[in-house]
Amino acid sequence: MSIQFGPDYVRALAPYQAGKPIAEVAREFGLEESSIVKLASNENPLGMPESAQRALQQAVADLGRYPDANGFDLKAAISARYGVPQDWITLGNGSNDILELAAHAFVQPGQSVMYAQYGFLVYPLATQAVGARAIEVPAKDFGHDLPAMLAAIADDTRLIFIANPNNPTGTFVPAAELEAFLRAVPSHVVVVLDEAYNEYLNAELQYESVEWVRAFPNLLVSRTMSKAYGLAGLRVGFAIAQPGVTDLLNRIRQPFNVNSLAQAAAIAALNDKAFLQKSADLNARGYAQLTQAFDALGLEYVPSFGNFVLVKVGADDGAGARVNLALLKRGIIVRPVANYKLPQWLRISIGLPEENVAFLDALKTVLG
Ligand SMILES: *Cc1c(COP(=O)(O)O)cnc(C)c1O
Repeated sequence: MSIQFGPDYVRALAPYQAGKPIAEVAREFGLEESSIVKLASNENPLGMPESAQRALQQAVADLGRYPDANGFDLKAAISARYGVPQDWITLGNGSNDILELAAHAFVQPGQSVMYAQYGFLVYPLATQAVGARAIEVPAKDFGHDLPAMLAAIADDTRLIFIANPNNPTGTFVPAAELEAFLRAVPSHVVVVLDEAYNEYLNAELQYESVEWVRAFPNLLVSRTMSKAYGLAGLRVGFAIAQPGVTDLLNRIRQPFNVNSLAQAAAIAALNDKAFLQKSADLNARGYAQLTQAFDALGLEYVPSFGNFVLVKVGADDGAGARVNLALLKRGIIVRPVANYKLPQWLRISIGLPEENVAFLDALKTVLG
């Protein structure tokens, strides 16, 4: 009999399934890398902004030294941008790091963590990794049912994850509903508001979550540089929360969790408003392009507020996997979501116009 290491809840973890890398699909299906279209990880199809590339090149000269463990310059840029003191900011190795830090900082084994059905998969992973009990609240129209979540808070609930917009469904909770929820949540329960796709929201949907951070000492707003800012490979995210919450995150994070290249590029990207606007505009056009085609094909999709769309590609539970494989053979990488218990659906990241066309052409062929 082999020895079993670690606690049961760690052995029961199913590792996060990331989007397939282009090189892997090229090897597996005998395709040219340059012919492959990847619409699988909600990356910015424009890639990294030029401002960040220039900053990176300068920072390369100093890689013999450790990064600034406190990320002073990056925090100063975030502080200026959002009008919060630096001791309200925690930097993360991607915002995944922030989500995990929150689970480690605020939850003990056996206590409960809440998130919605179809909530981002990192939430159940972070919950299970600390031996906590999950409270998964059924979704309403694929999105968060905040009144039901409120009603489901238990005595031992210490953390609630909410993604707005949510991934993989793209659903959005309007500001007024979120604010009412925050007012009603007991003040000892930390709420993580994960705004990974905030930059894609139309002006009329935007809200000032940082104002809520000022009002609610139990609120943590999480942001990432991986999506609209185009820096997914560098891994930078950050949290904004009052010092009572921020202090704890900073105690348990690794001292050099954000490397010096990432810090330099993030400062440049954060100040590149033109790139952000260009990315949001491109995304809006791509969303129209994809959803008009889905309408024409008679395919059901969930209206999305992010840079991706969840589309139903068949009525049987093999549909998602089958269509995904057929697309892969044609060099199109999208994201199956059977691991979200959505086996009839695929999540498509919005690409460049020509990438969207390549995907739609392949989809039409595959669906016959
Ligand atoms: C992509 C994503 C993140 C962030 O990923 P990082 O690259 O780790 O910053 C966080 N939350 C949601 C909901 C996401 O979709």
